[in-house]
Amino acid sequence: MQVKYFTNLDQLEDISAKEKEKLKKVSQRYPFRANDYYLSLIDWNDPLDPIKRIIIPSIGELNAWGELDPSEESKYTVMPGLEHKYDSTVLLLISNVCGGICRYCFRKRIFKQPNQEYLRDIEAAVDYIRGHKEVTNVLLTGGDSFMLPTKRLKLIVGKLREIGHVKIIRFGTKMPVFNPYRILEDSSLIELIKNYSTPQKRIYIITDINHPKELSKKAIKGLKMLFKAGAILTNQTPLIRNLNDDPEVMAELFRRLSFIGVPPYYVFQCRPSVGNKEYAVPIEKGYKIYEEAKSRVSGLAKSSHFVLSHASGKIEVVGMNSKKIFFKYHRAFKNKNSSRFFSCKRNSEAYWLEDYDALACIS
Ligand code: SF4
Repeated sequence: MQVKYFTNLDQLEDISAKEKEKLKKVSQRYPFRANDYYLSLIDWNDPLDPIKRIIIPSIGELNAWGELDPSEESKYTVMPGLEHKYDSTVLLLISNVCGGICRYCFRKRIFKQPNQEYLRDIEAAVDYIRGHKEVTNVLLTGGDSFMLPTKRLKLIVGKLREIGHVKIIRFGTKMPVFNPYRILEDSSLIELIKNYSTPQKRIYIITDINHPKELSKKAIKGLKMLFKAGAILTNQTPLIRNLNDDPEVMAELFRRLSFIGVPPYYVFQCRPSVGNKEYAVPIEKGYKIYEEAKSRVSGLAKSSHFVLSHASGKIEVVGMNSKKIFFKYHRAFKNKNSSRFFSCKRNSEAYWLEDYDALACIS
């Protein structure tokens, strides 16, 4: 089934003219994009519908807050579309488009300037990776890696598989839930996974599923096909206000993901990207929700890490007492920070590491 894409709220019959008028300013600032399959999951009578929260603009996005590049990805950009922050991992932004645009996307800048940051020179990227023997992982993302035609994906994966030191290729994608037909109806994508996910060198698919409602029968069928083809699946999600900032919703997401073989990998603190104040939950509140959710599920559903994808590395929140919050570098840009443990004086209003008083943070 060919899904139909919408990039203008005026095309949606279920939103009133008054609401459209109100939201016009938002979609002028941060583009809107959705497709008919994903929109069909919305219960338009429910003002709190989670799919609506993910895909339909909110007036709160106009609140001044945040940065265009909150994790300072530009600092680690070696060439347009290639980031090398951690020794072993190179990230290729191979696409500048997604099956929809999540309102809280931390890479909004890509949609605002679609031609600037994605990878066009695949040969140069492959040469770079070949020259860096420490690189064992390549993450194909964007935008959404599965937005590229399979022919193009095959070319990229084929070239990467010729590099002996690249063991893991990861696809970052929300297409299994944004548009399951991308998987259900493209046997060549399944063939690609079968051919290139070998017992010695697996292909990983990192899904971006944020709420249990996204796990429709079709989505689960597509995920099963990827799994059967030999991919290893795992999920990451940001923790978003009025979407999954409820221990039972998050617990249900963890449970269902673990049941279908897509164990939770990362839960991200919502990055302070422009327009995201509406969606962010303070770190300490989010951590409590996360721990409460984990207390309700079994071992494999607890396998995630709650992290801040900070400019200096992935910083995991590992605990809290009445006075302090405790952090540990899960991955660090500077090796000297690797596994570094530190604590900060509690601040219930902190949304990002910089909101903690640096003088009150102790290694
Ligand atoms: S799928 Fe990921 S990259 Fe695409 S809009 Fe959503 S958060 Fe952004």
